[in-house]
Amino acid sequence: MDLQIEEQLASSRRTITVLIPCYNEQESLPLLFERMEALVADSESLEYTVLFVDDGSADDTRSLIKQYAQEHSYVEYIFLSRNFGKEKAMYAGIENVHTDGLVIIDADLQDPPELIPQMAELWRQGYDDVYARRRSREGESWLKKITSRWYYDLLQKVSGVVIQKDTGDFRLLDHKCVDALKQLDESERNSKALFSWIGFKKIEFLYDRDKRVAGKTKWNYMKLFHLAMDGITSFTTMPLKIATWAGSLVSFAAIVYAIVILVRTLAWGVDVPGYASTMVVVLILGGIQLLSLGIIGEYLGRVFMQTKNRPIYLVQEQHIVK
Ligand code: UDP
Ligand code: MG
Repeated sequence: MDLQIEEQLASSRRTITVLIPCYNEQESLPLLFERMEALVADSESLEYTVLFVDDGSADDTRSLIKQYAQEHSYVEYIFLSRNFGKEKAMYAGIENVHTDGLVIIDADLQDPPELIPQMAELWRQGYDDVYARRRSREGESWLKKITSRWYYDLLQKVSGVVIQKDTGDFRLLDHKCVDALKQLDESERNSKALFSWIGFKKIEFLYDRDKRVAGKTKWNYMKLFHLAMDGITSFTTMPLKIATWAGSLVSFAAIVYAIVILVRTLAWGVDVPGYASTMVVVLILGGIQLLSLGIIGEYLGRVFMQTKNRPIYLVQEQHIVK
């Protein structure tokens, strides 16, 4: 009996939200609309809602989205009051999802929406988190590729949680995962860390990441560095421990060196030349102190942001059909 019900459920139409964070994407949107329209039109097993979150764009993004929403009943939107960053824009979307599933894609069509039905197949088989893993990273500089590889190796080592490699925010999540994510309301967000942290039944889906269809990337190395730090600090206090270890080690070495100097001075008298050794000690100690302070600062800053308890984002205007 159960089997029959399960089969019926599996073959029934599921509702799914495609969440698209947008920031100054007026060049990409017309192409995106075209491809979403085609996808929605020939879908039998999925009932789509397309949810745009505009992250404070200064160009025509909002008017384009509004117009598209007027023409199509499956379109929803949330306009944030200013630019909050992709992480927070995604959270705004996640909080408003009311369908069985969720897919997150970039507005620049780097994540082909045509793959959604194939991902949904895996979802039907019972997986809760179908994450798209890049087979190739076309159109990205070698520097970005290599730094991101190092970063994820490091994150994996320090966090103890399995991190999905070569994976972005492009994934299909069951409503179980969406509900879990809604509860993670931390202000300094790193979605990839959060997606890993929630667990559930995950499966990878290989795909070729396309080039941006139009416009320019909104990322720069400052933003990426901050995101990377969010990933580490949200997972682990390991850097603080490393600072403690390094501090202890250097203190021990300093004590040994102090004894050596003391004994030498007592035995052979005062030895004036010593500029080089003094400088070495001062520089090493100073360097380690500053580094440790910096690490503590990274954590303290995030504690500070979180304790202010401000809302994660503010909405200027929204159109959600429930
Ligand atoms: N984005 C956003 N807010 C921002 C920066 C980016 O909502 O502050 C959106 C952007 O419109 C795009 C997605 O996040 O849909 C990914 O951005 P982008 O393509 O610039 O990043 P990349 O693909 O180069 O990593
Ligand atoms: Mg992109």
